Amino acid sequence: MMIGRRRLLRYASALAATRFLGAAAQAGVPARSAMQFDPFTLGVASGEPTSDGFVLWTRAAGFEHDVVLGYEVAEDEGFRRIVRRGQVRALATRGGAVHQEISGLRPGSHYFFRFHIGDAVSRLGKTRTIPQEPERLRLALASCQHWEQGWFTGYADMLSQDVDLVAHVGDYIYEKSFGAGPNVRRFGSPDPRTLDEYRERHALYKTDSNLAAAHANVPFVVTWDDHEVENDYAGQSGVESDDPIAFVHRRAAAYQAYFEHMPLRPGALRPDGELRLYRRSNWGKLATIHMLDTRQYRTLQPCSSIGHRGGQIVQDCSAVASPDATMLGAVQEHWLERGLAADNARWSLVTQQTLFSRLFLPAGTSAAYSDIWDGYSANRLRLTKALGAPDIRNAVILGGDVHSFWGNDVKENFDDPTSRVVASEIVTSCLASRNGPEALFGPAPALNPHVRFLDNRHAGYVLLDIDSERINADFRAVDDLADPKSVSRSLKALDIADGRPGFA
Ligand code: FE
Ligand code: CA
Repeated sequence: MMIGRRRLLRYASALAATRFLGAAAQAGVPARSAMQFDPFTLGVASGEPTSDGFVLWTRAAGFEHDVVLGYEVAEDEGFRRIVRRGQVRALATRGGAVHQEISGLRPGSHYFFRFHIGDAVSRLGKTRTIPQEPERLRLALASCQHWEQGWFTGYADMLSQDVDLVAHVGDYIYEKSFGAGPNVRRFGSPDPRTLDEYRERHALYKTDSNLAAAHANVPFVVTWDDHEVENDYAGQSGVESDDPIAFVHRRAAAYQAYFEHMPLRPGALRPDGELRLYRRSNWGKLATIHMLDTRQYRTLQPCSSIGHRGGQIVQDCSAVASPDATMLGAVQEHWLERGLAADNARWSLVTQQTLFSRLFLPAGTSAAYSDIWDGYSANRLRLTKALGAPDIRNAVILGGDVHSFWGNDVKENFDDPTSRVVASEIVTSCLASRNGPEALFGPAPALNPHVRFLDNRHAGYVLLDIDSERINADFRAVDDLADPKSVSRSLKALDIADGRPGFA
């Protein structure tokens, strides 16, 4: 059926595409082989929506030199009412990736887009601009998709839910295999370390039909966690290698490959190698999404030692409360505080990677898991204060990483059960992976009264239906990760009411 649709599209656009034959010849695509050659196997995507535009993404695969792609944006699926068209150079040094910014369109409208080169036409993309004053936002929150451990059917469910935006908060790719249990497919290549190897891993992901369909149909805003580079890395410190220079090279390769495969603004990748992922997505008076990056600028997990780095349960580690232990880094923290102070929206959504609320463990109140916010408690306290400021109407923290669903009341002081609730926290489970460590999470509800909902048995995503009165968080679970046709169903729905932080 998909092939039929593609053929139809190619036929429909054959006339328009002939204009680009010149570009193909110039690019060195032989006219005859161009008939079979599909440079768009990695699909299309859109992202960073605003009220007047978005970013269009594709990556022309299989070229060793720069090529010029054509793009078109239309109001209709048949491309009769084209509102933007142009050409964009896909650089070989960027793996053939393009990040085309489109602006000046109508707010609150659906658009169709496609790329072409020669007579090759990409699949049809669909996206939308944000209304001037949105009354509603349907936001899908996703995290942690392990290629080997499950089918990405959660995305098929999202596409049936009329989602306005997908927020992916990290572990979009995994750099390695792990965990005992059944796998549904194999990476088929060694753990990536070089730019070409990370490109190959990302390209593999882009061939997943559910993920590709999601990207072709809904705009994404993305940020990363650790597995886009290496498990549990922190800032410029790796876990596996003792050689800091080797890690910095690995990180730079991973950052570039991530940029090349995501619908990010072209300016996100800075000349010095920083990938600027902290940014805002503005939904009028309804909501502001403050998107954070808690990996790139963080300090090493407290009480790590050489030979035992990365996340671990630490005991009596006073460094977790050090003001110098930071998840965000000073520059991003300042940016966030200023942005929160200026945020007049009904809902201030803070989208970050991992579990924000305190997690008391069976090992006692002086134990903390060092890779989550518990390892950086002074930084958490400063952020909690900013979220509880009187000019913030409703603060909601959104996260992932822990491979389990959580609904938490964020307390002003987690050590004092009577202290006030200043915000709500919603954590999505893995979209496709095995669940979190039961020894860590199983006892959590009994030890943590601020945990209002926990499920460590399902993969899936959270669908947030946001209007001016309330947020309805629908925790949606994939029935069977091993079934490529699995359906998803609602595991639990929780409400957050306007003006009342925490879960109703
Ligand atoms: Fe993960
Ligand atoms: Ca992670």
